[in-house]
Amino acid sequence: MRPLFKTLLALGLSASFATADLQPDAAAQATLTPDIVLQNLQDGNARYMKGELSDPNLLDRIKKAQEGQFPQAYILSCVDSRVPTEQVFDMRLGDVFVGRVAGNIENGDQLGSMEYASAVAGVKLVVVMGHESCGAVKSACADVKLGNVSELLQKIRPAVRSIDGYADKTADDKEFVKSVVKANVLKTVNDIRERSEVLADLETAGKIKIVGAYYSLQDGSVKFL
Ligand SMILES: [Zn+2]
Repeated sequence: MRPLFKTLLALGLSASFATADLQPDAAAQATLTPDIVLQNLQDGNARYMKGELSDPNLLDRIKKAQEGQFPQAYILSCVDSRVPTEQVFDMRLGDVFVGRVAGNIENGDQLGSMEYASAVAGVKLVVVMGHESCGAVKSACADVKLGNVSELLQKIRPAVRSIDGYADKTADDKEFVKSVVKANVLKTVNDIRERSEVLADLETAGKIKIVGAYYSLQDGSVKFL
């Protein structure tokens, strides 16, 4: 038995409190709503910004994972090494699904993964998170051509073209890049709703929310858009 658990029992506190460090089970997941999960992510990001991540409780969580998964959210984010998605929200083993692709764009495989996460595994929130100084977005702004990268960047180009005066701006313009990152996130959120009837119906029924977010490299903060 873990020392903390023993101490809590000695203090007469409930076992449910003592096991709160574990990932959700079916009963815990059933108590979640999209707004509660959004708050959980915001609270986790506040801990991350202070450098106070929770104890990963890894061995207990690995063991419990055998029983199944009942995560809270699906987070689509960029592959950038400076944006460690689970850590950004202080989420641990079993807490969230994470889909990562350069420029956090959606495609059929991501949509299928989100639909599984939401309709089958019961997540309450789908987050599309872009980040400051995204290399994929900067490359799209510069219309870079490179192997398979070119095709990926074409999916970001509509967000570039949505910004007034884009043809006269460059990838060195931080405010321009920030505007494109946010436009790309919001476009991706809309594309998800338009291209996935499953997710759009779940959102209309209030079972999930689909939201955009922006990660700052300067202080590690996440602002929901
Ligand atoms: Zn990026």
